[in-house]
Amino acid sequence: MRKPKLRELKEAVTAVIKGPYTTAFPFAPAETFEAFRGQPEFHEEDCIGCGACAEVCPARTIDVVDEGNTRTLIHHYDNCIYCGQCEAYCTTKKGITLSRKFDLAVFDREQAVTSIEKELVRCERCGDVITTVDQLKWIARKTGSLSVANPTLLIALHKDLGVTVDPSPHDGKPVGRGDSYRMMCPACRREVYLTEDWLG
Ligand code: SF4
Ligand code: SF4
Repeated sequence: MRKPKLRELKEAVTAVIKGPYTTAFPFAPAETFEAFRGQPEFHEEDCIGCGACAEVCPARTIDVVDEGNTRTLIHHYDNCIYCGQCEAYCTTKKGITLSRKFDLAVFDREQAVTSIEKELVRCERCGDVITTVDQLKWIARKTGSLSVANPTLLIALHKDLGVTVDPSPHDGKPVGRGDSYRMMCPACRREVYLTEDWLG
């Protein structure tokens, strides 16, 4: 009979004295290490709803759904590969981060979702989505005084400061100078600038 190697014998004795190297999970909680890449989590305060995380996700696990005045970002963590690209390329750097959660089993894959909702800004002329309220505010704060060059950003800044009034509805009148001061998508803004009646 071959004699056990000394190293293996030492490990066996250590395990007998100190207990097994494996964790007791699932009978007891298991601690993960600090850099562990677990379930990605959105953060209400820091996510601006821009959708950049969905764009860079290689597994396409984040859906961006615009309905009415709400944008919903839905993360399907059953298909997530926990690569961390969403966190690395998040616009604010803090809107989505990988937690250390790993015990994510569910009986129904439809339940393997987390989501976050953001208020949308729509063009006052055509109704198309411009972006979210939070993203406009974020850009306006970032650009500071430069935001005066973009009326949509300026309105967002004014709304954030509470120093603006809602414009009258666009009721089919010819496009006038006053229409410049509206929340508009780039296509409508271009049209307004090209066709405005300066006396309107
Ligand atoms: S702020 Fe970050 S987490 Fe939120 S939608 Fe943009 S990229 Fe995604
Ligand atoms: S960790 Fe990777 S796969 Fe999972 S949501 Fe983020 S980018 Fe997509």
